[in-house]
Parts: sequence; C-alpha cells; structure tokens
Amino acid sequence: MKLKNQPAKIPCPCGGFIEWKKERVTQDGIDCGILDVEICTKCFTQYLPEESMLVVEDKLKKAGLWGVERKEIKFWKTGNSVMIRLPTRIVKKLNLTSVQKGYLHEEGNHKLVIEI
Ligand SMILES: [Zn+2]
Repeated sequence: MKLKNQPAKIPCPCGGFIEWKKERVTQDGIDCGILDVEICTKCFTQYLPEESMLVVEDKLKKAGLWGVERKEIKFWKTGNSVMIRLPTRIVKKLNLTSVQKGYLHEEGNHKLVIEI
C-alpha cells in the first residue's frame, strides 16, 4: 500500500530507489505491528523512518531486547570460505573457547544467527 504525500524518490546505495510502504515489522523476533517503512525496490533493504524506529524501540524495550550491544566483525575470504573473528568480549562472556560445535541459520538476507 502506498502512502499519500510520498516524498521524492530517495536513492538507495545499491542504485535502486526507496519506496514508502506500510508493512508489518518484525524486529529480533518481536512483532512491532504495521508501521511505515522505507523499502528499496531493487535490493529490498528495509529502512525504518524515525517514527517507526521509536515504536520498534519501545516494543523491544518492553521485551527486554533493546540495547543489545552490536559489534562490528570483519569477514575474511579464504578460498571459497569466509572466516569471521569474534570479538574477545563476546568470546569471554559466552565462554566460547570451551564450545566446540554450534548451529548457524539465516534470518532473511542480512542476518546470521549462531546458536551454541
Ligand atoms: Zn537498494
């Protein structure tokens, strides 16, 4: 569904354009309801405008999920594989040096979840 008063087309870094829509937003597994979102018509990256971000923030706070620390990680290509190096703080906190096996699954196109 398109909104009235749609602003001029916003370009996306991929070369596509961003459209405003109303969609159900699920963030970190929490249903945040139907919100205004900006979605790229080419790469389908979803951006949240400020008002929607505040709603999501509120929902995540209530669910106790807000403020989960994000750390940047780098991907290293080795042949056809990719290696990642986990930040020391996370390794220590989760005691990962004693973990030998885990499970990896995709959540959409931009998220990987590792279960240990
Ligand atoms: Zn895009």
